Amino acid sequence: MIELRSDTFTLPTPAMLRAMGQARLGDDVYGEDPTVRELEEKAAQLLGKEAGCLMPSGTMANLASIMTHAPRGSKVLVGTESDIYVYEAGGASVCGGVVYEPVVNRPDGTLPLADLRAGFPDDPEDPQFALPSLICLENTQNRCGGVLLSFEYQREVRELADERGIGVHLDGARIFNAAVALGRPPADLAQYADSVQFCLSKGLSAPIGSMVVGSADFVRGVRRVRKMLGGGMRQAGLLAAAGLVALDDYERLAEDHDNALRLAKGLADIDGITVDPDAVQTNIVMFRVTAPGFTWQIFADAAARQGLAIAELGHGRLRAVTHRGVDSADIDAALTVVRRVIAQGAEA
Ligand SMILES: *Cc1c(COP(=O)(O)O)cnc(C)c1O
Repeated sequence: MIELRSDTFTLPTPAMLRAMGQARLGDDVYGEDPTVRELEEKAAQLLGKEAGCLMPSGTMANLASIMTHAPRGSKVLVGTESDIYVYEAGGASVCGGVVYEPVVNRPDGTLPLADLRAGFPDDPEDPQFALPSLICLENTQNRCGGVLLSFEYQREVRELADERGIGVHLDGARIFNAAVALGRPPADLAQYADSVQFCLSKGLSAPIGSMVVGSADFVRGVRRVRKMLGGGMRQAGLLAAAGLVALDDYERLAEDHDNALRLAKGLADIDGITVDPDAVQTNIVMFRVTAPGFTWQIFADAAARQGLAIAELGHGRLRAVTHRGVDSADIDAALTVVRRVIAQGAEA
């Protein structure tokens, strides 16, 4: 199977498995797992923040971050296309008692500044209004096609947040993809956010885990929420060991970006597929099947029967994600499957 549904399907590398087998371990709920500590320090340092905290998942990393920033009854400004709003089961609303204020993402992944401003009541003293406490951005923006947020835009959001005295949280599940695509150190991409979460378990291809980074004070708060949510893990150095290896060779994500572009260009040559190769910025390719008779479902089912796994990602679009588990030959094979499926027709 050529697996393009997600970069979460990546398996730990032999080097990760070796590191896991040799990791020094302790009880991380006591703060005594040396490998977790090393990973937390390394993550914080790479992103230019004071401290870090290993989390079981990106979902919990976002949830604990929001709960640490945002008081109950406050508003958290999130994109309508954000993972936090769409895919995290309303966690911050359920567990944190916050009100999500959905702001429609532009196709470039940004939340228009005017719409963010509109989330603030004219009279903050008027007790009937919930007050914004946090803006959440996502970089790369998954549902907008793995697009990159510009530095300029993030600086403007930072200025707005400072003006209003609220925080900025960055869902950087794929921030290392963004760093590699922009040729900049990850810390540059984190500079405008108070806190960042990123996934070790996606393109970085560790088996499990996400990191939250931010100020030492903030991370202390996150640790408390993590424990409350049941995310305190004992000998978590097993996972951290893989994470440390992942962070050593994140530059290889460039290959995934090359493969995504190769895929998009190949798809663009196929009649019955609509795709814009110029829109591909990282490891995600969004496309539509426009051949007569096809729905995304018919296409995805037929492709799966021929050994190619692709997922729908909202609004009837298909998403292909490249990662360590697929090379350029797999991309060419995937293109062959797509051509064959279209040629056989929707009734096949
Ligand atoms: C995958 C993802 C998450 C959630 O991570 P999990 O580890 O799957 O819970 C959060 N945000 C974005 C943008 C993601 O792509």
